[in-house]
Amino acid sequence: MSIDYQSLAVKGVQALTPYQPGKPIDELARELGLNPDSIIKLASNENPLGPSPRALAAVREALHDLCRYPDGNGFELKQALSARFGVKLSQLTLGNGSNDVLEVITRCFADQQSEVVFSQYAFAVYALVTQAIGATGVSVPARDYGHDLDAMAEAVTDLTKLVFVANPNNPTGTVHGAKAIGAFLDRIPARVLVVLDEAYCEYRQADDAVDALALLERHPNLIITRTFSKAWGLASLRAGYSISSAEIANVLNRVRQPFNVDNLALTAATAVLDDEEYLQRSREVNAEGMKQLETAFGKMGLAYIPSAGNFIAVDVGDKAADVNQSLLEQGVIVRPIAGYGMPRHLRVSIGLPEENDRFIESLARALDALPAAESGRGV
Ligand SMILES: *Cc1c(COP(=O)(O)O)cnc(C)c1O
Repeated sequence: MSIDYQSLAVKGVQALTPYQPGKPIDELARELGLNPDSIIKLASNENPLGPSPRALAAVREALHDLCRYPDGNGFELKQALSARFGVKLSQLTLGNGSNDVLEVITRCFADQQSEVVFSQYAFAVYALVTQAIGATGVSVPARDYGHDLDAMAEAVTDLTKLVFVANPNNPTGTVHGAKAIGAFLDRIPARVLVVLDEAYCEYRQADDAVDALALLERHPNLIITRTFSKAWGLASLRAGYSISSAEIANVLNRVRQPFNVDNLALTAATAVLDDEEYLQRSREVNAEGMKQLETAFGKMGLAYIPSAGNFIAVDVGDKAADVNQSLLEQGVIVRPIAGYGMPRHLRVSIGLPEENDRFIESLARALDALPAAESGRGV
């Protein structure tokens, strides 16, 4: 008799749908017989500038040490982070991307008896890691695509161990200001941990940008997570971190794998923290590209969700899947988000000006090919 090995997996894992990443350029090239150089990818919120020259130079130097294990404590990167943010080394936990940290947090603090609260349309990884450990995910209906923080606070029960808040959120780009986040934290019992996922915090321009580090002093149950994958331009190297109380960091550091961040990632991340010019350019290119897309959507009569990230979700109508297919055939990769319960939207990462132009032209062509009633354009 043959054994059904899938049925041996723990219950949460059996029902798990894997995270759907943006389509890689080479995969689309293979599928459609396109030249990879002719394809643009605006699907994974990557930094369109390419990596910082300082990060590249540091990585080249570090190649000679590939035979050695990395520093499992990440001392130099932690020192650089500590100097930048004025936190103690003992408050930092490094991860193989911040996804790793999110998973470690969940495994450390929730189990099969726990509830984990997050918002509808929130970053998919929260629901995924919650389900993988067999905890119960509580998805709180969004308000105008953003987190309904009042409803989330009300969703906390005696069983709740963790609350995830993405600020800004992916894929919607919605964001809450300092006052709203502070008031929310005031309502959460100290025994419940709040993860404030700030993967896009470097892009924020508003005056009321959350000073999460100041909140940490008043709320010892707060864990801030950040990443080098977006504004810092190192998505391929996998480096993220959390800032928390030293007590919580101590717990997380017990569970993470001893060498979870490799030496190239540590080296590049440390080097790029010194490259203020790169960060500044990332911000500028993003702000300009965002305007470029918003203006184009306005002219095309397409509704979009105002975004504080390096991406924007645009409503292209009932036939979003067809629009996406047409974009792919034109060599433009964006991210359909039907899996998030947003079947009319496509999420587009902000690219270089010429990439944004190419996307806008391709989108116009895709919409023109649809019957007028289905194009999502307002009257
Ligand atoms: C991209 C992203 C992350 C970080 O991913 P890593 O590459 O693993 O650091 C975390 N949270 C959100 C909301 C994101 O969009």
